[in-house]
Amino acid sequence: MKYVIIGGDAAGMSAAMQIVRAKQNHDITVLERGEIYSYGQCGLPYTISGIVDEPEDVIARSVETFRNKYGINAKINHNVTNVDQDNKEVHGTITTTGEPFKYEYDKLLIASGASPVNPNWDGIDLSGIFHVKTIPDTKDILSYLKKDVKNVTIVGGGYIGLEMAENFKEIGKNVTIIQRGHQLMSPFDSDMAKLIHNEAENKTLMLSSVNQ
Ligand SMILES: Cc1cc2nc3c(=O)[nH]c(=O)nc-3n(C[C@H](O)[C@H](O)[C@H](O)COP(=O)(O)OP(=O)(O)OC[C@H]3O[C@@H](n4cnc5c(N)ncnc54)[C@H](O)[C@@H]3O)c2cc1C
Repeated sequence: MKYVIIGGDAAGMSAAMQIVRAKQNHDITVLERGEIYSYGQCGLPYTISGIVDEPEDVIARSVETFRNKYGINAKINHNVTNVDQDNKEVHGTITTTGEPFKYEYDKLLIASGASPVNPNWDGIDLSGIFHVKTIPDTKDILSYLKKDVKNVTIVGGGYIGLEMAENFKEIGKNVTIIQRGHQLMSPFDSDMAKLIHNEAENKTLMLSSVNQ
């Protein structure tokens, strides 16, 4: 049975490892458009303050481990652009060379994850504006912090925004969080959110609420 998996991070590689454990003669190809497999994005905010030393420290298993130890045909720089369900084929382009590729599958898993929302705002491409999703994103932020950065504004007061705020505060930045709606951590009940607001104020974070 030929398995093809699109996406080499948490979902894709836990599925791949389940197949490895369950099947003696597995034939698994993973198509990852980036260069890094199986890493814990959860740790990335903590590289800002140095609680986690380096962004690469969050990598759980390298691509070589998947290839050499587990016999997975783990590809990097393979961007999937089309699935042909009739012929059971996956098509795409190798990002480094522009060459097309094609893989046949018996079973296909799309584990391509999510991307940060990139609002269609004027100035969104200006220097000094970042997302935090991947190891390269985090490296970009760390590199920018080598400049004389004093003030940090975070758009979005959910889990990741708060973790980033905590870590920027830890390294002495003035931090403002801008949150749409009336409370940080919108999934929480208001009494719990109040505790978070109090803690944020104790840490001298600036909070701005924007209704939209
Ligand atoms: C900063 C941050 C902190 C987080 N903290 C926590 C936490 O504390 N606790 C928690 O539970 N979760 C946390 N999360 C969420 C967690 O990281 C995600 O839920 C998890 O990474 C999802 O895994 P995934 O494999 O579904 O998707 P992803 O991690 O997004 O992986 C998808 C992969 O597919 C690849 N891909 C996408 N499209 C294509 C294509 N067309 N062709 C080839 N490859 C493609 C991408 O390059 C990527 O490697 C955090 C996330 C972030 C960004």
